[in-house]
Amino acid sequence: MKFVDAHSHWADMRFAQDSSQIDRMLQACLVKNIDFFLQGGVNPEEWQRQIAIKARYPENIGLCFGLHPYFVSDSEVEVCEAALDELSKLLPDAMALGEAGLDFRPHIMKESELLQIEMFENQIELAKVFQKPMVLHIVQAHEKANQILEIWGSPERKGFLHAFNGSFDTAKKFIDKGFLISVGGAITHEKNSKLRDCISKIPLEYLLIESDSPDQTPAGWRGLNESVSIYNVAEAIANIRNLSVFDVLEIGSGNFKRLFRL
Ligand SMILES: [Zn+2]
Repeated sequence: MKFVDAHSHWADMRFAQDSSQIDRMLQACLVKNIDFFLQGGVNPEEWQRQIAIKARYPENIGLCFGLHPYFVSDSEVEVCEAALDELSKLLPDAMALGEAGLDFRPHIMKESELLQIEMFENQIELAKVFQKPMVLHIVQAHEKANQILEIWGSPERKGFLHAFNGSFDTAKKFIDKGFLISVGGAITHEKNSKLRDCISKIPLEYLLIESDSPDQTPAGWRGLNESVSIYNVAEAIANIRNLSVFDVLEIGSGNFKRLFRL
């Protein structure tokens, strides 16, 4: 089986400025048997960069468009509404809607709590209308996000929480709604006992593996994080679950393919 990075940002400006960098990253992945990369959408300009990258590597890139909580919290209401309109036009071409969600860390949230909630709810509706799985970005707001999903109802195609870094109890609330839990570099940090405990208990059919490249750098990694680091993530999980690295990559990639009906 070929492996999948469930969440990465190849259209990030830190990569997109230099197309040879993307070629090199892809080659490094292909030799390690990783051949598919679902993107995490951030804002309308970034969606266009994803489209350009996919034009070069149509077999390897999965488009994912959404209004990231960072974008929402930095934008005026009118800008967010225009972006939502644009999203509803482009979404049919994407595999998933995301990143969407809530980020209530004080330095991100500033005054944007209500706008974040409104845009999250709007995106849940769009995911339902267009029958797309959602990629959720939820930080320090799991209770609120869970409540919103309960009130509005989860989209039929569900989706996953990306870069999960919480307790098993928190993960369980979303698993019970049918969402998968995607884990990245945070699990490689030995002191992260809450997440390590979560990974020791999580039903494996709900697990995805991601790099969140170029962020979420695994322990010991130098420079910008790249998709090939899903091996580091898988190794940390393998140690906790007493599996091989390849078992973990196969489980994560199999779950991804099931979610996206590939
Ligand atoms: Zn991301």
